[in-house]
Amino acid sequence: MFDLFKVGFLTVTFIDLLDIFLVSFIIYKLYTVIRGTIASQIFIGLIIVLLLSFLAQAADLKALGWLLKLITDIWVIAFIILFQPEIRRLLVMLGTSPLGRIFLKGGSSDLADVLTDSAFELAQNQHGALIVIVRSAGVKGIVETGEVINSAVSKNMLRSIFFPRSPLHDGAVVIKGNTIEAARCTLPLSTETSFEGVPLGMRHRAGLGISETADVISLIVSEETGGISIADKGKIIRGLSKESLRNYLNKNTSITREKGWKGIFEQLSKGK
Ligand code: ATP
Ligand code: MG
Repeated sequence: MFDLFKVGFLTVTFIDLLDIFLVSFIIYKLYTVIRGTIASQIFIGLIIVLLLSFLAQAADLKALGWLLKLITDIWVIAFIILFQPEIRRLLVMLGTSPLGRIFLKGGSSDLADVLTDSAFELAQNQHGALIVIVRSAGVKGIVETGEVINSAVSKNMLRSIFFPRSPLHDGAVVIKGNTIEAARCTLPLSTETSFEGVPLGMRHRAGLGISETADVISLIVSEETGGISIADKGKIIRGLSKESLRNYLNKNTSITREKGWKGIFEQLSKGK
């Protein structure tokens, strides 16, 4: 069935080609996810262990072989533990692909307006801020590090929270849907200490860090410069204007889900 051509005694079918394509694609994606991270070094370490255990077996070094076999026997579990952040990132990538997006609830454009206005007012007063906007999966662990608020998102609420003498101003605010879930949250710091040559302070590293491991957008208002940045999927966009921030939030936080197949088709063809 679907025979394409023969190499010697091998028959290559369409399914084989598809198989090869899929495996190459997965390995390539895996490589782009772990490239430049500590995981690539761990990966090399694992390969060395595998190689050594193969050599030990070939040379009949029984004790060494036994020790290395112990390691390779549990390598699946070790792999999951060692690569937990990368596996997480990969799954987030899958979930945020066009297909995954279909199942997500939409946000609202009001939110983009309120956040944009709040950010620029905070910046004008040189008040720093860090706002995490949750897109799909919750960030329960993060919310637990802070103080639960559960209030509607409003400009005055955000300005009050980030007022420098407010007891809640330190750390990050987490917003999900139209609700401020918590304030004073501690975010995981990114291992990057600079982005495109510009050094990153703690606030920016925290905003970047959470965007690497969860499906969120971080909105960062710099206390030092009044500059407004966004961190999304491990990338930072700096120096946003009011219009570009509003557009970005509109496009990336609200998934307007139209009813029926027409909506789903449009969603897919937009590639978002
Ligand atoms: P800015 O441009 O506003 O100065 P920055 O990136 O230079 O920002 P810092 O000056 O180090 O960063 O900002 C410190 C503030 O960042 C802290 O007061 C705190 O509110 C916030 N912050 C630092 N670490 C974290 C973290 N892990 N999670 C959440 N917020 C954090
Ligand atoms: Mg600073």
